[in-house]
Amino acid sequence: MRAAVYQGPHDLRVEDVPDPTPVDPRDVVVATRGASMCGSDLYLYQGELPGLAVPGATILGHEIVGEVVAVGSAVSRFRVGDRVTFPFSVSCGTCRTCRRGLTGHCETSKRAIYGFGGLAGSHAEYVRVPLADGHLHHVPAGVSDETAVVASCNLPAALIAVDSAQIAATDTVALVGAGPTGLLALQLIAHRTRRPVLVLDRVGHRLALAAALGGVPVDVDSDPVAEIVADATDGLGVDVVVEFAGRGDAFDVAVSILRPGGVLAGGGVYRVETAHPTDLGMLFAKDLQLRLNGLANVQPHMGAALGAVAGGKVDPSVVFSHRVSLDELPAAAEAFSRRAEGFHKMLIEP
Ligand SMILES: [Zn+2]
Ligand SMILES: [Zn+2]
Repeated sequence: MRAAVYQGPHDLRVEDVPDPTPVDPRDVVVATRGASMCGSDLYLYQGELPGLAVPGATILGHEIVGEVVAVGSAVSRFRVGDRVTFPFSVSCGTCRTCRRGLTGHCETSKRAIYGFGGLAGSHAEYVRVPLADGHLHHVPAGVSDETAVVASCNLPAALIAVDSAQIAATDTVALVGAGPTGLLALQLIAHRTRRPVLVLDRVGHRLALAAALGGVPVDVDSDPVAEIVADATDGLGVDVVVEFAGRGDAFDVAVSILRPGGVLAGGGVYRVETAHPTDLGMLFAKDLQLRLNGLANVQPHMGAALGAVAGGKVDPSVVFSHRVSLDELPAAAEAFSRRAEGFHKMLIEP
């Protein structure tokens, strides 16, 4: 089959590699109809998590919509021809952590993530799905490919973070980080508060899309952030920040704009900038509530994510700016990494 193989930072190459087959009776093989690239893939692509992407071996990608083409003998929930998507991490559904809903910590899969380390991802014509009955998800008829693809990661991750913030209708909310997941979260937040939602980022086309979705764009590099927050909250600070940037400087901004007793709901990957000095004293002195959502245990939330689309609360198609083939993926990945003008998210159609 054809697959985009990681060769080193900023270097994907589309190559012929062996077709995956079921190697365990619990495996399924899925033909990829649609895939994408997540912000967390960028940490691998950019070489920021060395060891998790092996040059010459790793196939990235943990978002998918596809069709089952092979089924192991112990699989009971899936048949050849089923249209499916998977959560970004492999979970068995029966171990101690899975039973608590912490599917990202599955003891059986040992926290395996598609496209990270040794497990091949979806930037390929076919993907092997281990422990399929435990986490693979049927895609109902009528659900678009874009919606099924964001059900793998971005949309349930947005839903988990927004739910954890427990937003009241009278809350002033700031969204920090208007990448694709942030822009999905913005649509969810807009249904939970009657107040304007401040959207903080430094990329112009993201802020423009946030504004088109009803947010109040704030450029952290050129706008007076403290003044805008003070004006919007009568000098108190925002009630809630939903944070998706996952970078130390963005986290500091989030802490600085919250009111005393405010809630910081995080959906970022807080393990890349391990040297960043977060001011614990500030968290303490402001009585802030920190609700990080860790590995984003998305599997139990995929149904609710699809339901939010069916119910008209969120439209994933607005964050898809580009459609590319597998051969076009290396160039598109670089554009995504550079935050090229107008580039939000791609649908990869192998
Ligand atoms: Zn992701
Ligand atoms: Zn498990």
